[in-house]
Amino acid sequence: MIPVDPQVLNACQKHVDLLIEANKRVNLTRIEDSEEARLLHIEDSLVGLELINQAPEGCYADLGTGGGFPGIPLAIATGRETLLVDSVAKKVRELQGFVEELGLSNVQTYAGRIEELAEAKPAAFSVLTARALTALPSLIELASPLLCEGGWLICYKSDDIDEELDAALNIQEKVAMFLISDERLVLSDGVTPRRLLVFRKHGEPTVKLPRRVGMAQKRPYK
Ligand code: SAH
Repeated sequence: MIPVDPQVLNACQKHVDLLIEANKRVNLTRIEDSEEARLLHIEDSLVGLELINQAPEGCYADLGTGGGFPGIPLAIATGRETLLVDSVAKKVRELQGFVEELGLSNVQTYAGRIEELAEAKPAAFSVLTARALTALPSLIELASPLLCEGGWLICYKSDDIDEELDAALNIQEKVAMFLISDERLVLSDGVTPRRLLVFRKHGEPTVKLPRRVGMAQKRPYK
């Protein structure tokens, strides 16, 4: 694992403890074992830390954050102004509780669809992340209207993505999102593969975005 300040790791651990407790009330994660949570929640979230630090300065949002991954660990580690976005209100209520318990003054939450956020705050973010949200073509379409010129989308993927990556590369011009980085790595268990892809917003999409709620995921561009 990349070197991280012990205070950051402590705060991340506290988040995971709160999550496992809250999971008794609301389904936020399938991972309840604390070793597994350390690997797949904390370490995995922080693999994007170097990339987010290289992204243009400005606001950060984690799309489809669920229990707060990778958004909460990255907000703690970077101190960036952060928005945690999820469409399921009861998850966001729990997240808001975590943010308050952890005393994260740089973090806000948004209960709603990504497409609605894009209407409310166009081009408001300079960096976005998404883990386990949707396939790459839908993801770059959803991210595009939220990003300022030159802003980055960091996608957390596993290694089996050839088909969705080909489809995303085909629609780069359409959504004005261009692949600038593609890294493969393995987590510290030695077996869990991870691929981090960065798409950069440049110029204007050739189609009007966001499309109607649901369209990006139901009928992705090809
Ligand atoms: N990123 C987390 C959760 C992944 S599950 C993790 O890796 O652990 C995907 C999450 O995205 C769910 O919580 C779901 O409610 C949310 N989601 C899916 N589509 C969305 C959309 N269009 N707008 C906002 N949230 C969405």
